[in-house]
Amino acid sequence: MARDNFFSVEFFPPRDVAAAERLQKTTQELQVIRPSYMSVTFGAGGSTQVGTIETVRMLKNRGLEAVPHLSCVGNTPEQILAYLEQFKQIGVTQLVALRGDLPSGMGLASSELRHASDLVAFIRQHYGDYFNIKVAAYPEMHPQATSPSEDLDHFITKVNAGADSAITQYFYNPDAYDEFVNRLTAKGVTIPVYAGIMPITNYSQLSRFSQMCGAEIPRWIRLRLAEFGDDQASIRAFGIDVVTQLCQKLIDNGVPGIHFYTLNQSKATLAIWQNLKI
Ligand code: FAD
Repeated sequence: MARDNFFSVEFFPPRDVAAAERLQKTTQELQVIRPSYMSVTFGAGGSTQVGTIETVRMLKNRGLEAVPHLSCVGNTPEQILAYLEQFKQIGVTQLVALRGDLPSGMGLASSELRHASDLVAFIRQHYGDYFNIKVAAYPEMHPQATSPSEDLDHFITKVNAGADSAITQYFYNPDAYDEFVNRLTAKGVTIPVYAGIMPITNYSQLSRFSQMCGAEIPRWIRLRLAEFGDDQASIRAFGIDVVTQLCQKLIDNGVPGIHFYTLNQSKATLAIWQNLKI
């Protein structure tokens, strides 16, 4: 299904030369969906931050719209400014601004910029409207939030600090997304909220991620996936079906766009995209 600027895709920085070559191939394969941009994650705590810049540069050199993520936790304001300056120098005009999570064992964040809203305000303070800023949204609540209402208010603080749009954490309950957007609309918040979509290709990995980030895998999906055991082909086929239906519902309900968490793979994203009617 080709529709310009409706889809976007996310990658993480490759860890070695072979992975970098595979990522080149993945990005070529995904161009068929005409993504509005390709975003590149940023490892809070330093692990992949250089890789983010290198990957963004690689995409930019190939004429692609590359959008780095930038997290504030664990970085000083001076370090954040240095990253912003590098991004600007390589032609970046859009960012995903995040708090980030420090890897376990790194202790508490000592950063002066404690929340994503602080980072958004900091970017606006230093760069005005130069960057288009996207932030994270959690239709099923951020796992550290004390209540959905408080989390929503914190989200709105990010919007008021200057965020232009948001990308959600992945979810498999379309009602959670609709409800989240309705609650924002009721509070007068109308920035586009793009649906973050995680294709299902590997059950144990998905379970692990979901536990960490607070995304619910509905019981019926869990049971079906568990029943497939090691039958990866059936997991993939079922996953493509389920996620296609999810995306189709969102599209039919008027979602402004879909952001695929590709995990640096193209096959599942392409299969879902081919099934969609938009
Ligand atoms: P925030 O918006 O700051 O919220 C985090 C928590 O703090 C929430 O519980 C919120 O309710 C609370 N909070 C916010 N403001 C306040 C306040 N003023 N007072 C008290 N509590 C407050 N992680 C990475 O490390 N690298 C990435 O590249 C990355 N990319 C991501 C992309 C997307 C689209 C998404 C959805 C997540 C991504 N993450 C990434 C994960 C993200 O960093 C974590 O979910 C992190 O725990 C929260 O980041 P945030 O920007 O949403 O934080």
